Amino acid sequence: MKKVLLLFLLLILLLIGVLFYRTLFFTSKQLTSIPPSRLAIDSGPAAEHLAGAIRFPTVSNQDNSKNDIEAFVGLHKFLEETYPLVHAQLTREVIAEHSLLYIWKGSGQHLKPIILMSHLDVVPVAPGSEGSWTHPPFSGEIAGGYVWGRGALDDKVGVIGILEAIEKLLAQNFQPNRTIYLAFGHDEEIGGIKGAANIAKRLGELGVQAEFTLDEGMTIIEGVIPGLATPMALIGIAEKGYVSLELTVDGEGGHSSMPPRHTVIGILSSAIEKLENNPMPHRLRGPTLKAYHYIGPELGIGARLVFANLWLFNPIAIKQISLSPAGDASIRTTTAVTMIDGGVKENVLPTRSHAVVNFRILPGDTIDKVRDYARTTINDPNVKISIYGDIQNEPSAVSDVNSHGFGLIQKSIMQTFPNTLVAPNLVVGGTDTKHYQKLSKDIYRFLPVRLKQEDLKRYHGIDERLSIENFSRIIQFYGQLILNAAGGENN
Ligand SMILES: [Zn+2]
Repeated sequence: MKKVLLLFLLLILLLIGVLFYRTLFFTSKQLTSIPPSRLAIDSGPAAEHLAGAIRFPTVSNQDNSKNDIEAFVGLHKFLEETYPLVHAQLTREVIAEHSLLYIWKGSGQHLKPIILMSHLDVVPVAPGSEGSWTHPPFSGEIAGGYVWGRGALDDKVGVIGILEAIEKLLAQNFQPNRTIYLAFGHDEEIGGIKGAANIAKRLGELGVQAEFTLDEGMTIIEGVIPGLATPMALIGIAEKGYVSLELTVDGEGGHSSMPPRHTVIGILSSAIEKLENNPMPHRLRGPTLKAYHYIGPELGIGARLVFANLWLFNPIAIKQISLSPAGDASIRTTTAVTMIDGGVKENVLPTRSHAVVNFRILPGDTIDKVRDYARTTINDPNVKISIYGDIQNEPSAVSDVNSHGFGLIQKSIMQTFPNTLVAPNLVVGGTDTKHYQKLSKDIYRFLPVRLKQEDLKRYHGIDERLSIENFSRIIQFYGQLILNAAGGENN
């Protein structure tokens, strides 16, 4: 008996030893001793330019025949007038009527090009919410140290940020040693089917195989990760897939005084309930797991112990991460019932009822897997399941965190946002890069907008704004990235 107890004690000690050993060697993945960027940015005119771009209401409506064509044409002209050096020295192609592709030819033939992406369109302002804005959404006001309006965060900041940086570099007679493509789609907010898809097609025709591609997607967050006060720059190395399933139930109808046990609405409701109550399983793997390899070492000892020893603490980590909707979305394929209808009159049995369920697919799952999951979970032949709408895509490939591109982006962040940590992560929404999968192995989704918890709702919401100080750093980031990627050894 004593022997057993001793053995047990020994095992416990061994376990504690392993846990602490792993925690001790769970070390920071941050770069150190990176000198700050010396690129000077004149923030006043740059802020004016961003405000000017916001004044063109380049709204992508779901029904794009409602789009304001003049606004897109006006924005093109505005860019031409605002960035004379860019338009004199880069080639510009208008793609699919309103998207723009700029080509900045590099001096070296042997280096692979890079692609910098952004988009010209914005989401509509929710009808009735105009009055809630501190400054009207398309007025492009500059007040209190901020540029206000739709597009300040998503994503005219990217377009203007990139062009400002290049205009500045051109004024200093900088010429890149590798070709740089600027790809600005005009319909990202409705899937990029015309804009990004056709730019990508054009780049394919040009035979482009990029060193890396950089688009919007993730940002610098402050005070959003529990237990982490230091700002954290998240670089999206993958994005989730997308599919909507339509559930349809047909019935015979008739008088509501003699109903069957369940009407088509009841049958549909039960199917929905089954889906909501049995979501696809959590998995801490792939890009999300990689994120915690970077975030984990920066956390307090308790969290560090957990993330260094996921072989043991995986269930605890999953429980913690899944507490917030954003965390939950990063570790499973999500299920969101978004549309429903059925019935026409209170005393008539409905003959048809249908609902739409939107799934965001975790890397590792597939559209087929989601469909199978829905079928087996609902397990009712009365419910017909089909794919809804035109937009569906598999999860993206996962880009490398040890690539040249990732290193360049990480370094550029450190140079322009000192005291900021960097981590890869999974984008739970979607970007235009879904159309660019064949153009480069490494695709990153990051724009260094600094966001606190309370700013997250400004995306697609009310009072979208960007601080001028943040904007000048964003320009510096793009400038520095170009210098690092295409400036040769001396930069
Ligand atoms: Zn966007």
